[in-house]
Amino acid sequence: MDKFLLRGIEEEGSAAIASYREKGGYAALEKALSMKPEEIIEEVKRSGLRGRGGAGFPTGMKWDFASRDPKFPKYLICNADEGEPGTFKDRPILEKNPHLLIEGMIISGHALKAEYGYIYLRGEYPGAKVVLEQAIEEAYKEGLLGDDILGKGIKFHLSVHQGAGAYICGEETALIDSIEGRRGQPRIKPPFPVNVGAWGMPTIVNNVETLSNLPLIVSIGGEKYAGIGNPECPGPKIYSVSCCVKKPGVYELPMGTTLREIIYTHAGGIRDDRPLKAVIPGGISTPVLTPDQIDCKMDFVNLPKVGSMLGSGAVMVFDDTVCLVRVCWRALRFFEHESCGKCVPCREGTGWLRNILERIENGFGRKGDIELLQDVAHSMAGKTFCPLGDGAANVVLSFIRQFHDEFEHHIEKKECMA
Ligand code: SF4
Repeated sequence: MDKFLLRGIEEEGSAAIASYREKGGYAALEKALSMKPEEIIEEVKRSGLRGRGGAGFPTGMKWDFASRDPKFPKYLICNADEGEPGTFKDRPILEKNPHLLIEGMIISGHALKAEYGYIYLRGEYPGAKVVLEQAIEEAYKEGLLGDDILGKGIKFHLSVHQGAGAYICGEETALIDSIEGRRGQPRIKPPFPVNVGAWGMPTIVNNVETLSNLPLIVSIGGEKYAGIGNPECPGPKIYSVSCCVKKPGVYELPMGTTLREIIYTHAGGIRDDRPLKAVIPGGISTPVLTPDQIDCKMDFVNLPKVGSMLGSGAVMVFDDTVCLVRVCWRALRFFEHESCGKCVPCREGTGWLRNILERIENGFGRKGDIELLQDVAHSMAGKTFCPLGDGAANVVLSFIRQFHDEFEHHIEKKECMA
Protein backbone atom coordinates (compact mmCIF):
# COMPACT_ATOMS: atom_id res chain seq x y z
CA MET A 1 0.00 0.00 0.00
CA ASP A 2 1.31 3.47 -0.91
CA LYS A 3 1.75 5.78 2.02
CA PHE A 4 -0.82 8.54 2.35
CA LEU A 5 -0.73 9.88 5.91
CA LEU A 6 3.06 9.83 6.14
CA ARG A 7 3.77 10.46 2.46
CA GLY A 8 6.97 12.45 1.88
CA ILE A 9 7.62 13.20 5.58
CA GLU A 10 11.27 12.22 5.30
CA GLU A 11 11.84 14.97 2.70
CA GLU A 12 13.40 18.28 3.70
CA GLY A 13 10.75 21.02 4.06
CA SER A 14 7.83 18.57 3.92
CA ALA A 15 5.78 20.80 6.25
CA ALA A 16 5.70 23.73 3.79
CA ILE A 17 2.56 24.36 1.76
CA ALA A 18 4.53 24.30 -1.53
CA SER A 19 5.80 20.80 -0.76
CA TYR A 20 2.29 19.65 0.18
CA ARG A 21 0.82 21.05 -3.03
CA GLU A 22 3.49 19.25 -5.09
CA LYS A 23 2.09 15.98 -3.72
CA GLY A 24 -1.43 16.95 -4.81
CA GLY A 25 -2.36 18.63 -1.54
CA TYR A 26 -5.56 20.70 -1.32
CA ALA A 27 -7.02 19.09 -4.48
CA ALA A 28 -9.41 17.15 -2.24
CA LEU A 29 -10.50 20.39 -0.57
CA GLU A 30 -11.42 21.91 -3.93
CA LYS A 31 -13.50 18.82 -4.68
CA ALA A 32 -15.10 18.90 -1.21
CA LEU A 33 -16.08 22.57 -1.54
CA SER A 34 -18.09 21.69 -4.63
CA MET A 35 -19.96 19.00 -2.64
CA LYS A 36 -22.88 19.54 -0.30
CA PRO A 37 -22.11 18.94 3.42
CA GLU A 38 -24.52 15.98 3.50
CA GLU A 39 -22.72 14.40 0.54
CA ILE A 40 -19.40 14.50 2.37
CA ILE A 41 -20.98 12.93 5.47
CA GLU A 42 -22.42 10.18 3.26
CA GLU A 43 -18.96 9.50 1.80
CA VAL A 44 -17.49 9.29 5.30
CA LYS A 45 -20.21 6.83 6.33
CA ARG A 46 -19.58 4.78 3.19
CA SER A 47 -15.83 4.74 3.92
CA GLY A 48 -16.37 2.98 7.26
CA LEU A 49 -13.81 5.30 8.91
CA ARG A 50 -13.57 4.72 12.66
CA GLY A 51 -11.96 7.17 15.09
CA ARG A 52 -8.23 6.64 15.49
CA GLY A 53 -7.96 8.12 18.98
CA GLY A 54 -8.71 4.87 20.80
CA ALA A 55 -12.46 4.34 21.09
CA GLY A 56 -12.93 3.48 17.40
CA PHE A 57 -16.39 5.07 17.16
CA PRO A 58 -17.70 5.30 13.55
CA THR A 59 -16.84 8.83 12.41
CA GLY A 60 -19.76 9.19 9.97
CA MET A 61 -22.26 8.33 12.72
CA LYS A 62 -20.72 10.88 15.11
CA TRP A 63 -20.91 13.52 12.41
CA ASP A 64 -24.51 12.62 11.67
CA PHE A 65 -25.50 13.25 15.31
CA ALA A 66 -23.81 16.65 15.28
CA SER A 67 -25.12 17.73 11.91
CA ARG A 68 -28.72 16.93 12.92
CA ASP A 69 -28.47 19.28 15.91
CA PRO A 70 -30.00 22.61 14.83
CA LYS A 71 -27.94 24.72 17.28
CA PHE A 72 -25.25 27.10 15.97
CA PRO A 73 -22.38 27.81 16.08
CA LYS A 74 -20.86 24.32 15.95
CA TYR A 75 -17.21 23.71 16.79
CA LEU A 76 -14.68 21.25 15.41
CA ILE A 77 -11.84 20.25 17.70
CA CYS A 78 -8.84 18.20 16.67
CA ASN A 79 -7.60 16.15 19.60
CA ALA A 80 -3.80 16.39 19.27
CA ASP A 81 -3.21 15.71 22.98
CA GLU A 82 -1.23 12.57 22.25
CA GLY A 83 -0.31 11.52 25.80
CA GLU A 84 -0.82 7.76 26.01
CA PRO A 85 2.55 6.18 26.91
CA GLY A 86 4.01 4.46 23.86
CA THR A 87 2.02 6.60 21.42
CA PHE A 88 3.70 8.89 18.91
CA LYS A 89 1.67 8.22 15.77
CA ASP A 90 0.21 11.75 15.39
CA ARG A 91 3.50 13.52 15.93
CA PRO A 92 4.88 13.00 12.39
CA ILE A 93 1.67 14.41 10.90
CA LEU A 94 1.77 17.43 13.21
CA GLU A 95 5.45 18.16 12.67
CA LYS A 96 6.06 16.97 9.10
CA ASN A 97 2.72 16.95 7.30
CA PRO A 98 0.57 19.64 9.01
CA HIS A 99 -1.26 20.69 5.83
CA LEU A 100 -2.78 17.20 5.57
CA LEU A 101 -4.44 17.77 8.94
CA ILE A 102 -5.44 21.35 8.04
CA GLU A 103 -6.98 20.20 4.76
CA GLY A 104 -8.83 17.44 6.62
CA MET A 105 -10.15 19.95 9.16
CA ILE A 106 -11.38 22.41 6.52
CA ILE A 107 -13.20 19.57 4.72
CA SER A 108 -14.68 18.41 8.04
CA GLY A 109 -15.66 21.97 8.99
CA HIS A 110 -17.55 22.31 5.70
CA ALA A 111 -19.27 18.92 6.17
CA LEU A 112 -20.33 19.78 9.71
CA LYS A 113 -21.12 23.45 9.02
CA ALA A 114 -18.63 24.35 11.74
CA GLU A 115 -17.04 27.74 11.25
CA TYR A 116 -14.44 27.52 14.00
CA GLY A 117 -11.86 24.84 14.62
CA TYR A 118 -9.23 24.29 17.29
CA ILE A 119 -6.23 22.01 17.38
CA TYR A 120 -5.81 21.03 21.04
CA LEU A 121 -2.12 20.26 21.12
CA ARG A 122 -0.19 18.24 23.67
CA GLY A 123 1.80 20.53 25.99
CA GLU A 124 4.95 18.48 25.45
CA TYR A 125 4.96 19.13 21.67
CA PRO A 126 6.36 22.69 21.48
CA GLY A 127 7.98 21.97 18.10
CA ALA A 128 4.64 20.96 16.61
CA LYS A 129 3.09 24.23 17.80
CA VAL A 130 5.59 26.26 15.79
CA VAL A 131 5.07 24.11 12.68
CA LEU A 132 1.28 24.16 12.95
CA GLU A 133 1.06 27.91 13.45
CA GLN A 134 3.32 28.48 10.48
CA ALA A 135 1.19 26.14 8.35
CA ILE A 136 -2.05 27.84 9.46
CA GLU A 137 -0.57 31.21 8.51
CA GLU A 138 0.33 29.84 5.06
CA ALA A 139 -3.20 28.50 4.63
CA TYR A 140 -4.72 31.90 5.54
CA LYS A 141 -2.43 33.65 3.03
CA GLU A 142 -3.56 31.32 0.25
CA GLY A 143 -7.25 31.81 1.03
CA LEU A 144 -7.70 28.26 2.35
CA LEU A 145 -8.86 29.55 5.74
CA GLY A 146 -10.95 32.61 6.53
CA ASP A 147 -14.40 34.05 5.82
CA ASP A 148 -14.56 33.11 2.12
CA ILE A 149 -12.51 29.99 1.39
CA LEU A 150 -11.32 29.97 -2.26
CA GLY A 151 -14.16 32.36 -3.11
CA LYS A 152 -16.84 29.74 -2.37
CA GLY A 153 -18.52 31.70 0.42
CA ILE A 154 -17.57 29.09 3.02
CA LYS A 155 -16.11 30.21 6.36
CA PHE A 156 -13.68 28.32 8.57
CA HIS A 157 -11.18 29.70 11.07
CA LEU A 158 -8.54 27.60 12.78
CA SER A 159 -6.18 28.09 15.71
CA VAL A 160 -3.91 26.08 17.99
CA HIS A 161 -4.62 25.70 21.71
CA GLN A 162 -1.79 24.14 23.65
CA GLY A 163 -2.46 22.03 26.74
CA ALA A 164 -0.35 22.13 29.89
CA GLY A 165 0.78 18.51 30.04
CA ALA A 166 -2.20 16.76 31.64
CA TYR A 167 -2.92 13.28 30.25
CA ILE A 168 -6.57 13.55 31.24
CA CYS A 169 -7.10 16.40 28.75
CA GLY A 170 -6.94 13.76 26.01
CA GLU A 171 -10.43 12.78 27.23
CA GLU A 172 -12.77 14.84 25.06
CA THR A 173 -14.85 16.51 27.76
CA ALA A 174 -11.79 17.36 29.89
CA LEU A 175 -10.24 18.76 26.72
CA ILE A 176 -13.30 20.97 26.17
CA ASP A 177 -13.10 22.22 29.78
CA SER A 178 -9.46 23.08 29.19
CA ILE A 179 -10.25 25.00 25.98
CA GLU A 180 -12.91 26.94 27.87
CA GLY A 181 -10.23 27.98 30.35
CA ARG A 182 -11.18 25.68 33.21
CA ARG A 183 -9.29 22.91 34.98
CA GLY A 184 -9.42 19.90 32.67
CA GLN A 185 -11.71 17.30 34.25
CA PRO A 186 -14.10 14.87 32.52
CA ARG A 187 -17.77 15.84 32.40
CA ILE A 188 -20.69 13.52 32.99
CA LYS A 189 -22.11 12.00 29.77
CA PRO A 190 -24.80 12.32 28.46
CA PRO A 191 -25.13 14.98 27.20
CA PHE A 192 -22.40 14.17 24.70
CA PRO A 193 -20.22 16.89 23.16
CA VAL A 194 -21.84 16.37 19.73
CA ASN A 195 -24.90 18.08 21.27
CA VAL A 196 -23.56 19.98 24.27
CA GLY A 197 -19.84 20.63 23.93
CA ALA A 198 -17.69 23.75 23.93
CA TRP A 199 -19.61 26.72 25.36
CA GLY A 200 -22.71 24.50 25.39
CA MET A 201 -22.80 24.15 21.61
CA PRO A 202 -22.53 21.06 19.33
CA THR A 203 -18.86 20.11 19.19
CA ILE A 204 -17.14 17.37 17.26
CA VAL A 205 -13.86 16.12 18.70
CA ASN A 206 -11.80 13.95 16.36
CA ASN A 207 -8.24 12.69 16.57
CA VAL A 208 -5.41 13.98 14.32
CA GLU A 209 -5.15 10.74 12.36
CA THR A 210 -8.94 10.53 11.90
CA LEU A 211 -9.19 14.02 10.42
CA SER A 212 -6.10 13.43 8.27
CA ASN A 213 -7.96 10.63 6.49
CA LEU A 214 -10.55 13.05 5.08
CA PRO A 215 -8.56 14.20 2.01
CA LEU A 216 -8.08 10.54 1.01
CA ILE A 217 -11.77 9.69 1.47
CA VAL A 218 -12.88 12.71 -0.58
CA SER A 219 -10.34 12.13 -3.34
CA ILE A 220 -10.84 8.38 -3.90
CA GLY A 221 -14.42 8.11 -2.60
CA GLY A 222 -15.78 6.27 0.42
CA GLU A 223 -16.32 3.00 -1.43
CA LYS A 224 -12.73 2.65 -2.62
CA TYR A 225 -11.45 3.70 0.83
CA ALA A 226 -13.53 0.92 2.38
CA GLY A 227 -11.47 -1.56 0.36
CA ILE A 228 -8.24 -0.73 2.22
CA GLY A 229 -7.38 -3.20 5.00
CA ASN A 230 -10.04 -4.91 7.08
CA PRO A 231 -13.50 -4.22 5.54
CA GLU A 232 -15.00 -4.08 9.06
CA CYS A 233 -12.79 -1.13 10.04
CA PRO A 234 -10.95 -0.05 6.92
CA GLY A 235 -8.32 2.47 5.97
CA PRO A 236 -4.64 3.13 6.48
CA LYS A 237 -3.41 3.02 10.09
CA ILE A 238 -0.30 4.44 11.69
CA TYR A 239 1.25 2.07 14.22
CA SER A 240 3.93 3.43 16.56
CA VAL A 241 6.34 0.69 17.62
CA SER A 242 8.69 1.06 20.59
CA CYS A 243 10.75 -0.69 23.30
CA CYS A 244 12.75 -3.87 22.45
CA VAL A 245 12.69 -3.85 18.63
CA LYS A 246 15.49 -3.23 16.17
CA LYS A 247 13.70 -0.44 14.31
CA PRO A 248 11.35 1.50 16.59
CA GLY A 249 9.29 4.08 14.70
CA VAL A 250 6.02 4.84 12.96
CA TYR A 251 4.64 2.57 10.25
CA GLU A 252 1.68 3.34 8.02
CA LEU A 253 0.06 0.04 7.05
CA PRO A 254 -3.41 -1.21 6.12
CA MET A 255 -5.68 -1.58 9.15
CA GLY A 256 -5.61 -5.21 10.24
CA THR A 257 -1.93 -5.94 9.63
CA THR A 258 -0.89 -8.66 12.09
CA LEU A 259 1.22 -7.91 15.15
CA ARG A 260 3.75 -10.46 13.89
CA GLU A 261 4.21 -8.60 10.60
CA ILE A 262 4.51 -5.24 12.37
CA ILE A 263 7.14 -6.51 14.82
CA TYR A 264 9.18 -8.88 12.65
CA THR A 265 8.84 -7.43 9.13
CA HIS A 266 8.54 -3.68 9.63
CA ALA A 267 10.20 -3.08 13.00
CA GLY A 268 13.03 -5.53 12.21
CA GLY A 269 12.34 -8.07 14.96
CA ILE A 270 13.48 -8.21 18.56
CA ARG A 271 16.62 -6.37 19.64
CA ASP A 272 19.67 -8.71 19.71
CA ASP A 273 17.37 -11.47 18.41
CA ARG A 274 16.23 -12.25 21.95
CA PRO A 275 12.98 -14.12 22.65
CA LEU A 276 9.76 -12.13 22.68
CA LYS A 277 8.12 -12.04 26.11
CA ALA A 278 5.12 -9.69 25.92
CA VAL A 279 3.42 -7.08 23.73
CA ILE A 280 1.14 -4.21 24.65
CA PRO A 281 -0.75 -3.61 21.39
CA GLY A 282 -2.42 -0.23 21.74
CA GLY A 283 -0.75 1.96 24.35
CA ILE A 284 -0.24 1.34 28.06
CA SER A 285 -4.00 1.21 28.85
CA THR A 286 -4.61 -1.84 26.66
CA PRO A 287 -4.31 -5.40 28.03
CA VAL A 288 -0.96 -7.10 27.47
CA LEU A 289 -0.57 -10.07 25.09
CA THR A 290 1.74 -13.09 25.10
CA PRO A 291 3.96 -14.28 22.17
CA ASP A 292 1.43 -16.94 21.09
CA GLN A 293 -1.12 -14.17 20.40
CA ILE A 294 0.86 -12.10 17.89
CA ASP A 295 -0.84 -13.53 14.80
CA CYS A 296 -3.79 -11.39 15.75
CA LYS A 297 -4.79 -8.64 13.32
CA MET A 298 -4.28 -5.16 14.71
CA ASP A 299 -7.73 -3.62 14.37
CA PHE A 300 -10.85 -2.73 16.32
CA VAL A 301 -12.53 -6.07 15.61
CA ASN A 302 -9.85 -8.71 16.09
CA LEU A 303 -7.93 -7.50 19.16
CA PRO A 304 -11.00 -7.73 21.45
CA LYS A 305 -11.26 -11.41 20.43
CA VAL A 306 -7.93 -12.07 22.18
CA GLY A 307 -8.83 -9.92 25.18
CA SER A 308 -7.16 -6.66 24.23
CA MET A 309 -7.90 -3.46 22.28
CA LEU A 310 -6.44 -1.47 19.41
CA GLY A 311 -6.38 1.72 21.48
CA SER A 312 -4.05 4.18 19.78
CA GLY A 313 -2.15 1.46 17.90
CA ALA A 314 0.97 1.98 20.01
CA VAL A 315 2.82 -1.34 20.03
CA MET A 316 5.17 -1.79 23.01
CA VAL A 317 7.38 -4.86 22.68
CA PHE A 318 9.19 -6.54 25.59
CA ASP A 319 11.90 -9.20 25.41
CA ASP A 320 12.96 -11.71 28.09
CA THR A 321 15.22 -9.19 29.87
CA VAL A 322 12.26 -7.05 30.90
CA CYS A 323 10.67 -7.41 34.34
CA LEU A 324 6.92 -7.20 33.79
CA VAL A 325 6.18 -6.49 37.46
CA ARG A 326 8.32 -3.41 37.01
CA VAL A 327 6.50 -2.42 33.81
CA CYS A 328 3.19 -2.78 35.63
CA TRP A 329 4.43 -0.70 38.58
CA ARG A 330 5.75 2.04 36.25
CA ALA A 331 2.40 2.11 34.45
CA LEU A 332 0.56 2.58 37.75
CA ARG A 333 2.93 5.34 38.81
CA PHE A 334 1.84 7.09 35.63
CA PHE A 335 -1.87 6.56 36.23
CA GLU A 336 -1.64 7.68 39.86
CA HIS A 337 0.16 10.85 38.80
CA GLU A 338 -2.31 11.59 36.00
CA SER A 339 -5.55 10.78 37.86
CA CYS A 340 -7.50 14.04 38.01
CA GLY A 341 -8.95 13.11 41.41
CA LYS A 342 -12.60 13.66 40.52
CA CYS A 343 -13.82 10.17 41.43
CA VAL A 344 -12.87 8.03 44.43
CA PRO A 345 -12.22 4.60 42.82
CA CYS A 346 -9.58 6.08 40.51
CA ARG A 347 -8.13 8.68 42.88
CA GLU A 348 -7.64 6.16 45.71
CA GLY A 349 -7.36 2.96 43.66
CA THR A 350 -4.45 4.03 41.45
CA GLY A 351 -2.45 4.96 44.56
CA TRP A 352 -3.24 1.65 46.30
CA LEU A 353 -2.30 -0.38 43.21
CA ARG A 354 0.95 1.54 42.79
CA ASN A 355 1.78 1.06 46.47
CA ILE A 356 1.25 -2.72 46.44
CA LEU A 357 3.15 -3.14 43.14
CA GLU A 358 6.00 -1.05 44.52
CA ARG A 359 6.48 -3.29 47.52
CA ILE A 360 6.34 -6.44 45.35
CA GLU A 361 8.89 -4.96 42.94
CA ASN A 362 11.17 -3.95 45.82
CA GLY A 363 11.16 -7.43 47.38
CA PHE A 364 8.68 -6.74 50.18
CA GLY A 365 5.67 -8.47 48.62
CA ARG A 366 3.33 -10.31 51.01
CA LYS A 367 1.29 -13.46 50.63
CA GLY A 368 -2.14 -12.41 49.35
CA ASP A 369 -0.85 -9.33 47.50
CA ILE A 370 -1.88 -10.70 44.09
CA GLU A 371 -5.44 -11.26 45.30
CA LEU A 372 -5.41 -7.79 46.89
CA LEU A 373 -4.31 -6.22 43.60
CA GLN A 374 -7.11 -8.05 41.79
CA ASP A 375 -9.64 -6.99 44.41
CA VAL A 376 -8.71 -3.31 44.17
CA ALA A 377 -8.62 -3.42 40.36
CA HIS A 378 -12.06 -5.06 40.21
CA SER A 379 -13.36 -2.31 42.52
CA MET A 380 -12.25 0.23 39.92
CA ALA A 381 -13.07 -1.39 36.55
CA GLY A 382 -16.34 -0.03 35.19
CA LYS A 383 -16.89 2.14 38.28
CA THR A 384 -14.91 5.24 37.42
CA PHE A 385 -16.02 8.47 35.82
CA CYS A 386 -13.80 8.20 32.73
CA PRO A 387 -11.67 5.53 31.01
CA LEU A 388 -8.47 6.40 32.92
CA GLY A 389 -9.60 4.33 35.91
CA ASP A 390 -10.55 1.41 33.65
CA GLY A 391 -7.19 1.63 31.89
CA ALA A 392 -5.31 1.44 35.19
CA ALA A 393 -7.36 -1.55 36.35
CA ASN A 394 -6.96 -3.30 32.99
CA VAL A 395 -3.19 -3.05 33.11
CA VAL A 396 -3.00 -4.75 36.51
CA LEU A 397 -5.60 -7.43 35.77
CA SER A 398 -4.12 -8.34 32.39
CA PHE A 399 -0.52 -8.46 33.63
CA ILE A 400 -1.53 -10.76 36.49
CA ARG A 401 -3.67 -12.93 34.19
CA GLN A 402 -0.92 -13.34 31.59
CA PHE A 403 2.17 -13.40 33.84
CA HIS A 404 0.92 -14.74 37.19
CA ASP A 405 4.12 -16.78 37.72
CA GLU A 406 6.28 -13.72 37.53
CA PHE A 407 4.28 -11.93 40.25
CA GLU A 408 4.33 -15.05 42.42
CA HIS A 409 8.09 -15.45 41.97
CA HIS A 410 8.68 -11.84 43.05
CA ILE A 411 6.62 -12.35 46.21
CA GLU A 412 7.91 -15.79 47.20
CA LYS A 413 11.59 -15.58 46.18
CA LYS A 414 12.03 -11.81 46.63
CA GLU A 415 13.82 -11.68 43.30
CA CYS A 416 13.07 -11.04 39.65
CA MET A 417 12.81 -13.84 37.06
CA ALA A 418 14.14 -11.50 34.36
FE1 SF4 B 1 -10.47 11.69 37.08
FE2 SF4 B 1 -9.65 9.14 37.25
FE3 SF4 B 1 -12.15 9.71 37.71
FE4 SF4 B 1 -11.19 9.92 35.22
S1 SF4 B 1 -11.41 8.04 36.38
S2 SF4 B 1 -12.54 11.37 36.27
S3 SF4 B 1 -9.09 10.62 35.69
S4 SF4 B 1 -10.39 10.45 38.95
